[in-house]
Amino acid sequence: MTDANTETTEIRTVSNFLRDQIAEDVRTKKFGDAVVQTRFPPEPNGYLHIGHAKAICLDFGLADEFGGKTNLRFDDTNPEKEEQEYVDSIQEDVRWLGFEWDKVCYASDYFDQLYEWAIQLIKAGKAYVDDLSADEIRQYRGTLTEPGKNSPYRDRTVEENLDLFTRMKDGEFPDGSRVLRAKIDMASPNLNMRDPVMYRILHASHHRTGDKWCIYPMYDYAHGQSDSIEHVTHSMCTLEFADHQPIYRWYIDQLGIFPSQQIEFDRLNLTYTLLSKRRLLQLVQEKHVSGWDDPRMPTLSGIRRRGFTPGALRALCASIGATRTNGSTDIEMLEHFQRDDLNKKARRAMAVLRPLKIVIDNYPEGQVEFVDVQNNPEDPAAGTRQVPFSRELYIEQDDFREVPPPKYYRLSAGKEVRLRAAYFVTAQSVVKDADGNVVEVHCTYDPASRGGNSPDGRKVKSTMHWVSAQHAVSAEVRVYDKLFSKPNPNDFPEGGSFLDNLNPNSLEVIADAKLEPSLAEAKLGAPYQFERVGYFCLDRDTTAEKLVFNRTLALKDTWAKIEKTASGGGAAR
Ligand code: ATP
Ligand code: MG
Repeated sequence: MTDANTETTEIRTVSNFLRDQIAEDVRTKKFGDAVVQTRFPPEPNGYLHIGHAKAICLDFGLADEFGGKTNLRFDDTNPEKEEQEYVDSIQEDVRWLGFEWDKVCYASDYFDQLYEWAIQLIKAGKAYVDDLSADEIRQYRGTLTEPGKNSPYRDRTVEENLDLFTRMKDGEFPDGSRVLRAKIDMASPNLNMRDPVMYRILHASHHRTGDKWCIYPMYDYAHGQSDSIEHVTHSMCTLEFADHQPIYRWYIDQLGIFPSQQIEFDRLNLTYTLLSKRRLLQLVQEKHVSGWDDPRMPTLSGIRRRGFTPGALRALCASIGATRTNGSTDIEMLEHFQRDDLNKKARRAMAVLRPLKIVIDNYPEGQVEFVDVQNNPEDPAAGTRQVPFSRELYIEQDDFREVPPPKYYRLSAGKEVRLRAAYFVTAQSVVKDADGNVVEVHCTYDPASRGGNSPDGRKVKSTMHWVSAQHAVSAEVRVYDKLFSKPNPNDFPEGGSFLDNLNPNSLEVIADAKLEPSLAEAKLGAPYQFERVGYFCLDRDTTAEKLVFNRTLALKDTWAKIEKTASGGGAAR
């Protein structure tokens, strides 16, 4: 077992209070013999992002641990913002992360039941139709320091409420003219308990129920009851819903239905990243990115296209666990888990992003030989491949300096280096263009160093990757950097916007990189490590004429360094 594996195993055992609470509820049979039932409840109004991955890992992962079940429930109570496209992408993303739901449910499946329960609450004198406008309702609600005022419509009779609510449903009234409210307490210290709205009038077509309804339940009225209908035992959600817990319980208590319980945990925030569907939608609509799956986006579809893997996301989520305090996680931590995962799986290849031609003057013209290169030094079972070597090669521009700076051990005039798995070569002379740029380096090689082995114990300080010029395949390579240039993209001066924090250099397109020929057969979805450069994957923009690769990550593992400094050693890799 490598260090990296040991570390991942330790991380998996990180405890979290949600697991502890579920274990306790199972032990005390809080829900009798009911199995642990959870749900993941996205609103289908956008694509899932890395924050949702945390919720998914908790909802599905913890249910799994306790032999329970998880429903995928679409919280589709806002007809104007919801679309089938989002429903489809959410299912694809949950499966990609490696989870399978028990049932697919929709809050809209419960519209009839929710309506009946509303009638029940009206009959019990617990709900009333209010004619105040939205603005008036806000004014009457009071503030954190001042109690609210009762609406003049609060004491309508049950009969009048039933009549008005039925007519609301039948479409007699225009949008916004009336609402149904729960009758609780306008002086409650919790604003959510000050007669919350249960239903509003909205003459809008719904992606599933069409034009059947023109009243729609509010989140607070729909969510807990949907949980209850599905016998959800542990309804996990993020901390901003903590203030809603009393109203969640109030409806369930009044209706006397299955006592689902809500538990709140901390939201995942990542540095240099925005995890908010609303903001991500804005980036897409205003074309700051190419779409929801732009490889710079923190959406699951974006990072998947970028080459991130479910394993890395799950490792991140396992390592951060769940707490009761919102914080911020370094993006480097995700990148660390990603490199760890890719290092084990990625097939190695040689690719030169910014080519400089070298000519080996004493290598026979027209000769080609094939050198054997390991596919993955971390995994001998991955085997080897044959890479063609010839007289003219490409190396990285960065790997040659006519006049080497101090501690520069790569190729420079008169210096000898190893070409990976091939030969030792020494730079002899350069050819320059009219502007004085080096365009070609002439070298000699030592035939006795075949395989890259020292013939006489002679040492070289550098091993470099290369690609045979006549065999190289060309590719467009897209190199990504952070989408935002500030650790907190929401940190902008007054009058500004998070858009001011967009990194203008988040995408660099290299038009003509040179790759070893085997990469012409690269498969979508397969990870590659371009040796000494980084992790890459084929992009779906690839055509028969043009290969396109995305850089998933550079090789440098800043997180391991940070961790090493922090813990005094023991970092992975
Ligand atoms: P956004 O703010 O991005 O629109 P949301 O909370 O409105 O997110 P939903 O579709 O309602 O998105 O979320 C589904 C589930 O995912 C909810 O239980 C929510 O609490 C959880 N979730 C959303 N964002 C995060 C996050 N950053 N970290 C952890 N869980 C999250
Ligand atoms: Mg939401």
